[in-house]
Amino acid sequence: MIAMEHVDKWYGQYQALTDINLSVRAGEKIVLCGPSGSGKSTLIRCINHLESYSKGRILVDGIPLTNDSKTIGAVRAEVGMVFQQFNLFPHLTVLENCTLSPLNTRKQTKAQAEATARRLLDRVRILDQADKYPAQLSGGQQQRVAIARALCMEPKVMLFDEPTSALDPEMVKEVLDVMVGLANDGMTMICVTHEMGFARAVADRVIFMAGGEIVEEGPPKQFFQNPKHERTRAFLGDIL
Ligand code: ATP
Ligand code: MG
Repeated sequence: MIAMEHVDKWYGQYQALTDINLSVRAGEKIVLCGPSGSGKSTLIRCINHLESYSKGRILVDGIPLTNDSKTIGAVRAEVGMVFQQFNLFPHLTVLENCTLSPLNTRKQTKAQAEATARRLLDRVRILDQADKYPAQLSGGQQQRVAIARALCMEPKVMLFDEPTSALDPEMVKEVLDVMVGLANDGMTMICVTHEMGFARAVADRVIFMAGGEIVEEGPPKQFFQNPKHERTRAFLGDIL
């Protein structure tokens, strides 16, 4: 579903990614972790071309990702993204947040887009808030709306960049529960998170990054119980 081959990314003089090789099968769940500044956000932002990459090759569902705007549009139509800071449109209601892109890009009728949005808002258990504005919701509720909004585009892959890091502790579980549900439904997912309980529960592979490189990866059991690299052990010692 996703292939990154020898990908490098430079911000000016600073190399943020070095020789990233990553292949994600359809339905696979990847958890990406690592210290601050290790390149996790950069890596997943390259997959939907929120950042351009400098070298190597990225394929999404067989589409080679280039700088061509048509290709970028085609890739983005398949890739949903959820950010730490929700990024909902403040001047639109929950329902309007969810129907905006489908109406703009998919040429759905309003009735179709609203029916899809209501179904997905129900799935993240927030349909009763459909006519509110984001500022009227809790952080956990806003993040669930952000997930529903991404799902409204019917993506084949979902990218999560620390979706629970900005939440009060009591709201983390309601968002993780939605993500676990998505995982169980077979969604292909790459999740940047330090929620290691989530990683143990759903990840097929945990990938550890440091200094812009993939240092180690493995199934959660092996990754947590028997990390091979000293840097992985040090990181796990800090967060567990
Ligand atoms: P965090 O856990 O803090 O979110 P991260 O692993 O997501 O960190 P990135 O945001 O990918 O790390 O950043 C990787 C490196 O690239 C960092 O050193 C960062 O300072 C640098 N960087 C990120 N974005 C830019 C940018 N737009 N311009 C220049 N440097 C950047
Ligand atoms: Mg980040």
